[in-house]
Amino acid sequence: MLQQAAAQLRDTQGRVARYLRVSLTDRCQLRCRYCMPADLAWMPNERLLSAAELSRLITIAVTRLGVRKVRFTGGEPLLRPDVASIIASVPPDAAVSLTTNGLELPKHLPGLVSAGLKSVNISIDALNRRTYAHITGRDRLADALAGLRQALEARLRVKVNTVILRGVNEGEILPLADFCLANGCELRFIEQMPLGPLATDPVSAAEILTALRARYELRPLPRTSAPTQLYDVGGGRIGVIATVSFPFCQLCDRTRLTADGHVRACLFDDTEHDLRTPLRAGASDEELAYLWLAAQRQKAPGHLIGQASFRKPVRTMSMIGG
Ligand code: SAM
Ligand code: SF4
Repeated sequence: MLQQAAAQLRDTQGRVARYLRVSLTDRCQLRCRYCMPADLAWMPNERLLSAAELSRLITIAVTRLGVRKVRFTGGEPLLRPDVASIIASVPPDAAVSLTTNGLELPKHLPGLVSAGLKSVNISIDALNRRTYAHITGRDRLADALAGLRQALEARLRVKVNTVILRGVNEGEILPLADFCLANGCELRFIEQMPLGPLATDPVSAAEILTALRARYELRPLPRTSAPTQLYDVGGGRIGVIATVSFPFCQLCDRTRLTADGHVRACLFDDTEHDLRTPLRAGASDEELAYLWLAAQRQKAPGHLIGQASFRKPVRTMSMIGG
């Protein structure tokens, strides 16, 4: 029998997952060319977990399985009208954050702040309107920037996520750095991963750092989280996430819950374990915790990006929870 709060999400490599990423929906208003195919069919609503189901699974993860950080993502998590109530239901032992394209932030901010949200990651790949529209498929830069400005006014800690695509937005590296440093936002460049519809020739973290050094002195900070190498830049902070050029799989502390209620231990491994069916069939908290433990135990040792045996995952980032 599982004792409450006694178990850990430990895999066969000895890694323990304390960081849960939850996809609230696979839907999105944008069509970022590296993320989402233009013709993606949405999951039917009945497959998505309800707020009550999400709260129950997250509570199990925090109170029984040692999860200490929960990030809500998607798809676009702010397309769910119940996002604030879902956030409010996370047990206090876990820190909560949210990754969003920012477009719906103004509408949700009061509810999110009341729900206890302190920090938000906003994805903005360009400050040039045409480039933003070219990457996202939608002319919505002004809305993303309004969301960012209002999040700052609401005193949230704001990080900006940026993917640099070769030949598309390398020219945005310095303008985004200037903008984020001037506005007190931490900027994090994420190497393009082979997950979406676009062929990958990722601009490496090393290339991005070279571009930044043309203007800024970068002082490496001690690594606090596995994926991000942060640099002090005149008192501000810029980070690079080198998933492809410098894999951090041996330090990975993540587990994921897909929008349709499957545990996915590794972003790049299509192996998933269905919790929604047993949940809806009346499984107890203890049984669900056991299934999650068993799923995480089988986590793949690492992604094989760049190796002959690499196979692009079937599900897109928006379904898995990026
Ligand atoms: N819609 C929200 C957003 O864009 O922030 C949350 C979901 S999105 C999948 C989460 C993050 O994944 C975004 O920062 C996005 O840029 C990143 N992302 C999506 N596809 C990616 C890819 N193929 N490689 C690297 N990052 C990717
Ligand atoms: Fe939507 Fe985020 Fe994917 Fe862009 S990266 S298409 S905003 S889910």
